Amino acid sequence: VRKNPAEQEFHQAVKEVLESLRPIVKVNEAKYRKEALLERLVEPDRQIKFRVPWVDDKGQVQVNTGYRVQFNNAVGPYKGGLRLHPSVNIGIIKFLGFEQIFKNSLTGLPIGGAKGGSDFDPKGKSDREVLAFCKSFMTELYKYIGADVDVPAGDIGTGAREIGYMFGQFKKIKGTYEGVLTGKGLSYGGSLVRKEATGYGLLYLVEEMLKCNGFDITGKLVAISGSGNVAIYAAQKAFQLGAKVITVSDSNGWVYDPEGIDVAALQIIKEENRGRLTEYKKYRPNSEYHEGRGVWSVKCDIALPCATQNELLLEDAKALVSNHCIAVAEGANMPTTLDATEYLQTHGVLFAPGKAANAGGVATSALEMSQNSERLSWSFEEVDEKLKHIMLNIFHNMSDAAERYGAKGNYVMGANIAGFEKVADAMIAQGIW
Ligand code: NDP
Repeated sequence: VRKNPAEQEFHQAVKEVLESLRPIVKVNEAKYRKEALLERLVEPDRQIKFRVPWVDDKGQVQVNTGYRVQFNNAVGPYKGGLRLHPSVNIGIIKFLGFEQIFKNSLTGLPIGGAKGGSDFDPKGKSDREVLAFCKSFMTELYKYIGADVDVPAGDIGTGAREIGYMFGQFKKIKGTYEGVLTGKGLSYGGSLVRKEATGYGLLYLVEEMLKCNGFDITGKLVAISGSGNVAIYAAQKAFQLGAKVITVSDSNGWVYDPEGIDVAALQIIKEENRGRLTEYKKYRPNSEYHEGRGVWSVKCDIALPCATQNELLLEDAKALVSNHCIAVAEGANMPTTLDATEYLQTHGVLFAPGKAANAGGVATSALEMSQNSERLSWSFEEVDEKLKHIMLNIFHNMSDAAERYGAKGNYVMGANIAGFEKVADAMIAQGIW
């Protein structure tokens, strides 16, 4: 806090992780202290901040700020998404980059932790304006990334269009055709299942968590927040597994559809038209649209926050508990506040933290990197099978780690410890850096 006073979200993420590492730190205290391991872990390898000037459709020059925080490459090249949203600042990018270290380690794949982005808002911009921004952003970022160095991906506001524009500019400047970004289109090195991966992976993990705790996902009512990439494919997989999704939201309001959310309609509204959820009623006249927030007040068995950080608050946790919700799994990064997480855990709700539950996206990105290196493309079934296998492993690794350290069922602690163990070993083995 003294070093980085304004980085509120970063402090929140570090606090959550360090608190839950207490049992493993206790066992290894002398070694970690001597090596200043935790002090080194919370200080990024480097953080890059740069100007992003671009010209809007009126001929006016606009200036945004770009960031890339390369946090830790102990177990592999830096990997993590690029967020384009007006709320982006260094504290948010650092929280995301820090979380990414443990998430990426948990996947079992060789990828380090990083995050980046800009306070640019793609919403309401023309394709030409988005292209102008992406070119300018990559004109600086290209100096710091590469297939064996740092491989950025999508995140909020960065979808296939933005990744395509950035890839084009990287190629133009560098003259190399390399797997420098993931989330690419299928015609130029993208992986099947990448689009679906975070949402699908979330449901694979939830299904396993329920099964191991004596529940069956079939017939369960699911509340989802968000209506972006993660939310859409979480909803699709939930239906495929026999559950029923009844809510989605965006930053203006939320939809309750008692008959079950129409995923095809959602795809048209959000993916094809880049529209708003106010349009959903056109497709489903019996649904309800409400302004503001309110998804967590709906009675559900499973809650999947899939929008953004700090969107599930203590009062929401209380509403979920009183409605007998059995499981919460984070599709988004840090959507649940610390007090809400604690309330859910102490009231018997199964709680899967984002760094485990939403790791399917980055895991599939790592599979995209493997395919690019091999210059091969795997089939949908092959990638999906690998994704499922990775998510089940993640669940069992975090569950086992929690049990090993005397906190059975505390998946927050389990995920942090399991992710941390490998990174700590690798950092110690590589000397002081
Ligand atoms: P998208 O941009 O596709 O969708 C984000 C959704 O969340 C939209 O519905 C958006 O509504 C809503 N949202 C964003 N900001 C806010 C806000 N401040 N308040 C309320 N709602 C908001 O992003 P993704 O689906 O890709 O990402 C969602 C979350 O999942 C993020 O936390 C991201 O870091 C995390 N994540 C994503 C992965 C991926 O593969 N995409 C991988 C792992 C984690 P609106 O349209 O109104 O802005």
